[in-house]
Amino acid sequence: MNSTEGPGDGTRAVRAGLPEPVKYEPTLPGPVFAAHFHLPGEPTGPYTYGRDSNPTWTHLERAIGELESPGRPVETVTFASGMAAISAVLFSQLRTGDAVVLPNDGYQALPLVREQLEAYGIEVRTAPTRDDAQLSVLEGARLLWIETPSNPGLDVCDIQRLVEAAHQTGALVAVDNTLATPLGQRPLELGADFAVASDTKGLTGHGDLLLGHVSCRDSVLAEGVRRWRKVVGAIPGPMEAWLAHRSLATLQLRIERSCANALALAQALDDRGEVSGLRYPGLPTDPSYPLATRQMKRFGGIVSFVLPDRAHAERFLDALRLVDDATSFGGVRSTAERRGRWGGDAVPEGFIRLSAGAEDTEDLVADALRALDEALPGSTTAS
Ligand SMILES: *Cc1c(COP(=O)(O)O)cnc(C)c1O
Repeated sequence: MNSTEGPGDGTRAVRAGLPEPVKYEPTLPGPVFAAHFHLPGEPTGPYTYGRDSNPTWTHLERAIGELESPGRPVETVTFASGMAAISAVLFSQLRTGDAVVLPNDGYQALPLVREQLEAYGIEVRTAPTRDDAQLSVLEGARLLWIETPSNPGLDVCDIQRLVEAAHQTGALVAVDNTLATPLGQRPLELGADFAVASDTKGLTGHGDLLLGHVSCRDSVLAEGVRRWRKVVGAIPGPMEAWLAHRSLATLQLRIERSCANALALAQALDDRGEVSGLRYPGLPTDPSYPLATRQMKRFGGIVSFVLPDRAHAERFLDALRLVDDATSFGGVRSTAERRGRWGGDAVPEGFIRLSAGAEDTEDLVADALRALDEALPGSTTAS
C-alpha cells in the first residue's frame, strides 16, 4: 500500500521541489535558458553544458521525486516526452540476447518500440495486463514492463505481485504510471525499480507541452538512464520544464476534480442502454475495482466505453460541447476520442476514451447525457 505518513498530497504538491527561500528571489526560480554555463578551469558540474544538466530540470526533478517517493531518496530524470523516458529505460537496460516482457494492451507506440528492440536482437514477449497474465511469460526475462491502468482498456494488474515474481527470477520492473500519476499510485513503494511516465498528460495537465520522466531509487540504474539521455539528447526545453513545475502546484486540485468527474460520468453512463463495455477502475462494479482499491489512492480521470457503432460514436463526439474531440488525456479541459480512428489499439469501432477535466461535475455529466441523447439513431435533437 502507499504510505500515508507525512503531509497530504495537496500540501506536498504546492511545495514540491522548491528551493530554500532566498530574499528578493521568486519562490520558484524562473527558467534558465542556457546552452552552456560559465566554466573556468576543470570542467566539473553541476552545470556545464545544456544537454547534460540545467537548474530548471534540477528543481523539477526534485519535485517529481518528492511525489514519486515521499520521504525516501530517489533520482528522477526528465525527458522531452514520455516516449523518450520509456525508450531510455528499455534501451539503457537491455542488451542483445536479453528478453523483455511488454503488455500487449499498452500505449499504442509500444509496437514500434518492440520492432526496434527486436532489430537489436532483444527477445520481446507480450501478454495482457489483466489477470496478471504477464507472470506466465516472465521466466528468464531481464525486464518486465507494466502499464496499469492500461491505456486505453483500463485493465489493472497487481504491481506488488508482479514485482515479487519478477525479482525472484532476477528481472527488473518498470511501471508506466502515466494514467494514475504519483497521486494515484506510487510504483516505487510497491517495489518497482522504475516509475516512468508521460508527463504530457495528467502530471502537467494543461495540454500545452510534452514531457516525460523516470524515477528510480537505485543510483546505478538511474545513472544508466541519465547517460542514455545524454547520448540520445532527448532533453526537455527549460520553458517546458518550468511550466511543468508550475503546474505541479495544482496537481492535487486537478486530479481530485478529474477523478470525481470521471466517477460521476461512469455512473451516469452505466445507466444508459446504448453504452457497453464501460470501464472505470473506481466504479464498484468494474472488474478492476477490488485490486484498484488496494493498489491505488485515486483512480484517474479516464473512462472508456463502447457505443454501438462508428457512426453512433461520431455523432456523440460531435454533439459534445464541453468535451473536445482530441487525443491525449489528463488535461483540465475534458477530451474524448474514438480510439479506433488511429488503427493502433485492438478496440471496437465504437470505442470511446473520455478524459474528464476540471469542469463542474453537473455541467460535464449533463453535456455527456445530452450528447448521448442527440446521438441516438433517429434522434430529432441532433444538430
Ligand atoms: C501518452 C503516453 C505515452 C507517450 O508519451 P508522450 O509524452 O506522448 O511521448 C506513454 N505511455 C502512456 C500510457 C501514454 O498515455
